[in-house]
Amino acid sequence: MIPVRAAIAALAAYVPGRQPGGALVKLNANENPYPPSPRVMRAVAAATAEQVRLYPDALARGLRATAARVYGVGVENVIAGNGSDDVLTMIVRTFLDPGDVIAVVDPTYTLYETLAAMQGARAEVFPLTAQWDLPEGLFGAAARVTFLPNPNAQTGTLFPAGAVRRLCEEARGMVVLDEAYAPFAGVSAIPLIKEFEHVIVLRTLSKSHALAGLRVGFGVAQPQVIEMLMKVKDSYNLNAISQAAGSAALDDEAYVQERVAAIVRTREWFERALAQRGWETVPSAANFVLAAPPAGSAAEVVTALEERGYLVRHFATPRLQRYVRFSMGTDEQMRGVLAALDEMLAACSP
Ligand code: PMP
Repeated sequence: MIPVRAAIAALAAYVPGRQPGGALVKLNANENPYPPSPRVMRAVAAATAEQVRLYPDALARGLRATAARVYGVGVENVIAGNGSDDVLTMIVRTFLDPGDVIAVVDPTYTLYETLAAMQGARAEVFPLTAQWDLPEGLFGAAARVTFLPNPNAQTGTLFPAGAVRRLCEEARGMVVLDEAYAPFAGVSAIPLIKEFEHVIVLRTLSKSHALAGLRVGFGVAQPQVIEMLMKVKDSYNLNAISQAAGSAALDDEAYVQERVAAIVRTREWFERALAQRGWETVPSAANFVLAAPPAGSAAEVVTALEERGYLVRHFATPRLQRYVRFSMGTDEQMRGVLAALDEMLAACSP
């Protein structure tokens, strides 16, 4: 018997979207279908032996300064993480004791609950309404930390700014507003951090900036919050190449805006095309579309799509099992998905 902590023995580990090699078109992890800015690749190529030999800047000062400028805050308002998942880890380490409670909605990003469980904390789950709106019980919930992505993970729906503000006003603990998908919605709650000491906004370069492989994310909050998070982060949590590449990605705002706009256009026509085929689509403000097929199970559709070369995501949870989640690829890739769906339908028809 190894002396493992009970909380870890009981833990169901987070399951990320599969990363198979080979020829499959990957539409299962909400990655960006376009390459990062050429400036990013130049920054990566310009890495020196010294950058590899020495430890990186433990405080990621250059990267944080660039992020602060782009987000309209001070450098003291920003912490950098090895992806925003790393910032989530810092948050649970900072705020959660064993026995504490976090508040989450359902469906949402399940990592919040997994990370809380690692601390011995538990989640109180507030199901979204039938229209995927915030449930009344979430407001003022007795939670040490409330986690909310906006747009929401898995559904892609956007919660209105008024509801987000009310959540902050009525919260009895910290509120983490996870803006992984916000660039696709064109909104941000970052200005709220000026008003609310207990609010942390998360951003990532994984989706809008096509940097998922380099792992760069941020927490934005008041300086006294950032100071606490800094205490618990891994010493050199961001490697030197990612710091340089992250700055380069943030610096090329025009490139990112153009690619984000292209992804949003794809999402709009793809959502309509699914609706025309009788699918029930959930209105998305993110870089993916959640939709339920008119016939057959979502799990069957996912398997049949994989056989035709397209990897999409299915969540076997009560609220999501009817749905398929399609990350937005290029227009050509999404036309390919539709052709595969049409072919599957033709194959099933007598
Ligand atoms: N938050 C949400 C809502 C996400 O969907 C993801 C991506 N799975 C993340 C955070 C983590 O992103 P990253 O660690 O790549 O920044």
